[in-house]
Amino acid sequence: MANQNYNPFENAQTQFDRVAELLQLDEGTRQLLRQHRQEIHFTIPVKMDDGTTKVFKAFRMIHNDSRGPGKGGIRFHPHETADTVRALSMWMTWKCAAVDIPLGGAKGGVICDPRTMSAGEQERLCRGYIRRLKSLVGYNIDVPAPDVMTNGQHMMWMLDEYESVTGQRFPGMITGKPVGHGGSLGRTEATGYGVVYCLRECLKNMDIDITKTSASIQGFGNVAEYAARLYTELGGKVVAVSCWNAEDKTAYTFRKADGCDPAALAAIKDSFGSIDKAKAIELGYEVLPGDAWLSQDVDILIPAALENQITPEVFPNISKQVKIICEAANGPTTPDCDALIEKAGITLIPDFMCNAGGVTCSYFEQVQGNMNYFWTKEEVLEKLENAMTRAFQNIYDLAKEQNLYMRDAAYVIAIKRVAAAVKARGWC
Ligand code: NAD
Repeated sequence: MANQNYNPFENAQTQFDRVAELLQLDEGTRQLLRQHRQEIHFTIPVKMDDGTTKVFKAFRMIHNDSRGPGKGGIRFHPHETADTVRALSMWMTWKCAAVDIPLGGAKGGVICDPRTMSAGEQERLCRGYIRRLKSLVGYNIDVPAPDVMTNGQHMMWMLDEYESVTGQRFPGMITGKPVGHGGSLGRTEATGYGVVYCLRECLKNMDIDITKTSASIQGFGNVAEYAARLYTELGGKVVAVSCWNAEDKTAYTFRKADGCDPAALAAIKDSFGSIDKAKAIELGYEVLPGDAWLSQDVDILIPAALENQITPEVFPNISKQVKIICEAANGPTTPDCDALIEKAGITLIPDFMCNAGGVTCSYFEQVQGNMNYFWTKEEVLEKLENAMTRAFQNIYDLAKEQNLYMRDAAYVIAIKRVAAAVKARGWC
């Protein structure tokens, strides 16, 4: 479960305030950037299969669009809140700015549980969501994408509804479309691979041979799986992965001291990233409590599941061997733990840099859609690798030059870019 003691939007504002102060940002820009340009809260009535009508609460927010149209996913989750959407849209602004793509920060969500809804009910929910937002989204306004528990099929229903009400074809109004229907090759791998491009560069800078390192990962969903695959291909050893078990309503850590096999684990997980416990035992994995991923004697920790997982309370459980925390998830570390990580001399690759591979590939999807010409997977991944490597190195170099914690260095670069756009437009 996500840690309920922390509010992600307050975390996002705390991180921003710290760097706004460091940069001596003027008060107007500070006020503009710590809030949202637009928040839409609405309801979607959906006819359910049993003939009743259910009303779902939904959100779409644009944090800042000074550098380009809003960009960000739509989550379908029973625990979605206005504050998670606020935090995630704010982090999208910094993410797009950190990798220097011409997009702003946005996010959406619906409080629902698609696991308990039929395909027809989900389709009506998607169509209702986008019908309500028809004049507020678009390739040049705000571009949604899949996120937690939404996928390419949901995007296609939304695209079709949008095009039906507008009477024109607008493939660029949404990304994360399936390959063959306007989607980009490489999108499935993009976020996890991007995490490892950052990690690989970080290790090079620290003069550490990746083949002599080990890692422990929280999560085994889309991001974690592809991070584990590429890290293993590059010679690293994944010692443990954890994931949620819906049947037992708890998380487990699956451990293999001589190295997990990501492909074998992927073959025994379901579409929500849960590994089959019995099959894992058959394959020789030890099954430990969910939080055991954090206390492994490894060089690298990769939180790739939920927000608010690394807190002052659990920090003492982290092994002294850990040199790098690679934030693949959004907001996995609480602001009150940053000081402890920094003091312990652990290098932290901050979330909005580390997991920016996904949005970078979404941007490539838009670019390819605009040209109506699609690149090969190799071309997409090569461009992704270049973009991620360049952005990471800028942040790493700034952190070294100015003796900054890497999260602060990433914020300095991102905030400066957004503040410059806001100023150039004459908003502040
Ligand atoms: P996913 O839904 O595919 O996988 C989530 C994983 O977390 C699953 O394996 C699930 O079992 C596990 N999990 C859930 N609760 C857990 C718990 N208590 N302990 C251990 N494991 C638990 O999600 P994803 O797309 O891989 O995203 C993971 C994180 O990365 C999220 O924070 C998401 O916002 C962020 N992210 C994803 C993308 C993307 O392209 N998918 C892009 C940027 C950021």
